[in-house]
Amino acid sequence: MNLLALTEKYLGSCKEVKDFICVALGTGVGGAIVVDGRLVHGTWGGAGELGHMSVDFKGPICVCGGKGCLEHYASGTSIARRMQEKLILNKLPLGSGYCYWWWSS
Ligand SMILES: [Zn+2]
Repeated sequence: MNLLALTEKYLGSCKEVKDFICVALGTGVGGAIVVDGRLVHGTWGGAGELGHMSVDFKGPICVCGGKGCLEHYASGTSIARRMQEKLILNKLPLGSGYCYWWWSS
């Protein structure tokens, strides 16, 4: 994610921005923090690792060992998994067309 943030800083949408947070949603939740034009690494080098920031201290255990990490709720993988669970729970067929119908009703 640090590389994506630097790419945005030098070539992309943050050329004129000194302070920003870069977030990418995919199989996980990636993040990077730039303050005063410089990457923030933090003490352990993981300051921008937003995906493993706990948003629910009573949430499920994450692969990182934390509890209720943002990635568990907001990653593309997690969203697809939770949607599949809801379809199965409601005995609806799996498939994007049915997903749209389920959400729009
Ligand atoms: Zn985690």
